[in-house]
Amino acid sequence: MAKRPHIGQLFIRFPVICRRRVFSLMLCCIIAQVTHQELFLAKSSHARPVANPLAPHDHSHCVDDALSRARELCDARHVQLTPLREKVLQIVWRSHRPIGAYQVLDELSDSHKSARPPTVYRALDFLMAEGLIHKIESLNAYLGCAEAGAPHSGQFLICRSCGTTQEIFDKTLETALDAAAKRASFVGEHKVVEISGLCQDCAA
Ligand SMILES: [Zn+2]
Ligand SMILES: [Zn+2]
Ligand SMILES: [Zn+2]
Repeated sequence: MAKRPHIGQLFIRFPVICRRRVFSLMLCCIIAQVTHQELFLAKSSHARPVANPLAPHDHSHCVDDALSRARELCDARHVQLTPLREKVLQIVWRSHRPIGAYQVLDELSDSHKSARPPTVYRALDFLMAEGLIHKIESLNAYLGCAEAGAPHSGQFLICRSCGTTQEIFDKTLETALDAAAKRASFVGEHKVVEISGLCQDCAA
């Protein structure tokens, strides 16, 4: 019988080969990405987490903040946030639920009729490389980064019922993962924690 994820279930995996060994530490389902740490630029006054996705809020502010932060970061890095890339970012930020590439393509087709899957994947790759979005590996879907430009690994609480996904920033957890890898003489390169369960609304 397939095991269903439940609250508190956590798997952790470092998918990096070390001395021809793959070390994995399983607790939910994860994989990782710390690429935007390397791309980090000085944190400006605009860098701030968006509202708790579970709290009632005007989501248009989240989208506006994410887009203006993206423009600022791309300007500072001298990389181009083209209209298409910006549109893809806006689509990913349409809600606090991860979105799959083909759904992005569907929504993009309204404004960019010639868009094809490679167009979308290239834009998503750019946005990930710049630390503006994260890939949620367990869902094969994408989520806007709540603190673009700040150095952090990805830590996510994913509601398996409504899909709402909250990015959290727990330094203690990150330190513990680093220490666990170090004890195993493992050189971690990417780390992401994806915890699936039920959000407070769905658990109520
Ligand atoms: Zn929002
Ligand atoms: Zn993030
Ligand atoms: Zn939920």
